[in-house]
Amino acid sequence: MTSYVIKGARIVGGEPRDVLVKDGVVVEVGKVSRKSAEVVDADGLVLLPGLVDLHTHLREPGREDAETVESGSRAAALGGYTAVCAMANTSPVADTAGVVEQVWRLGREAGLVDVRPVGAVTVGLGGEQLAELGAMADSAAKVRIFSDDGFCVSDPRLMRRALEYVKAFDGVIAQHAEEPRLTAGAQMHEGITSARLGMPGWPAVAEEAIIARDVLLAEHVGARLHVCHVSTAGGVEILRWAKRRLAGGPGAVTAEVTPHHLALTDELVDGYDPVFKVNPPLRTEADVAALRAALVEGVIDAVATDHAPHAVQDKECEWAYARPGMLGLETALSIVVGALLEELGWDGIAERMSRAPARIAGLADHGRDPAPGRPANLVLVDPEARWTVDPASLASRSRNTPYAGMEMRGRVIATFLYGRPTVLDGKATL
Ligand SMILES: [Zn+2]
Repeated sequence: MTSYVIKGARIVGGEPRDVLVKDGVVVEVGKVSRKSAEVVDADGLVLLPGLVDLHTHLREPGREDAETVESGSRAAALGGYTAVCAMANTSPVADTAGVVEQVWRLGREAGLVDVRPVGAVTVGLGGEQLAELGAMADSAAKVRIFSDDGFCVSDPRLMRRALEYVKAFDGVIAQHAEEPRLTAGAQMHEGITSARLGMPGWPAVAEEAIIARDVLLAEHVGARLHVCHVSTAGGVEILRWAKRRLAGGPGAVTAEVTPHHLALTDELVDGYDPVFKVNPPLRTEADVAALRAALVEGVIDAVATDHAPHAVQDKECEWAYARPGMLGLETALSIVVGALLEELGWDGIAERMSRAPARIAGLADHGRDPAPGRPANLVLVDPEARWTVDPASLASRSRNTPYAGMEMRGRVIATFLYGRPTVLDGKATL
């Protein structure tokens, strides 16, 4: 295996140092002079632990026209990720040991990122019968996160049983918080814009009621709850209360926010462009401000992309028929840098996009700052670079990015997965 000297990198934004990477691990940090190693010039670049995404839709098996494990892995590596958690709403649904092992194996074969399958909570995402959570946890894929994402586990008794079950192996239930009886037929955020456009609304309370309920269930059971894609200011308030309430006691709650909920608002729906259709929907300016503040404060633990590729026919159609979701892997870091670098600093970005999600997912090899003996899962970022999003040049098989033509701040120059570059000079190596 080739060894690399990453020369003069600012580790998590600090002073320039060299990092020697060999046989998959960081061997030396400081002043490195090694003639046999390949040199990666990192002058002016920032070195972070490789990013970890808690929420990725890779679409395989079933919708390989929209994305495959390989194309999604490439998009992830180009976005600076070294690990992604692949959501279970595939076809067939990842609700058995067989399907999660298939996804895990495809990830290993692609070799671009650590693909960690998420298992479904209920059979077929049907919300009626618990899936084989134990079998998925015991499988080669070693599943620790379970989610019916796309759907809410709305039955409180089933949610309680799921929390009880995963407690045995320190698993976590990641809830898509949406009370379905409050969002039937909803097309966008319920508010001034939906009233003006005459569209059925998705009220904030549908999210907030489920978060509050699940926090109480997690406390009652003494298990771990993770709240997917928090999108409302009220959700933030409940999480702030929940973290205080659960601190030091039984149960724990963590939460994620997507880049698009940190950057975009419901007013964009005005032009009826389905690229802005997403679930939960884009909210208001006040929600965006509350989510940003919560991420800085730590009430929200992590940024997760909810990368949701869709084929052209499922997205470029009338608003009401378009599938919800947008791409995220290749733009997430730039969106967060553009929106919050000043408030978070590089250490905050490393925490919210790498260390915290790695802890939540139980990934000991990821989310670790470079130090001797640690796995070399790293990303090198040019903080000064500007680039323009061109949908045609994205690695994803789909094109549903809301940022087409927009200028982005900060660019991934290299990504290392267990010491091997998956991206060099901003290009995928595989
Ligand atoms: Zn979701």
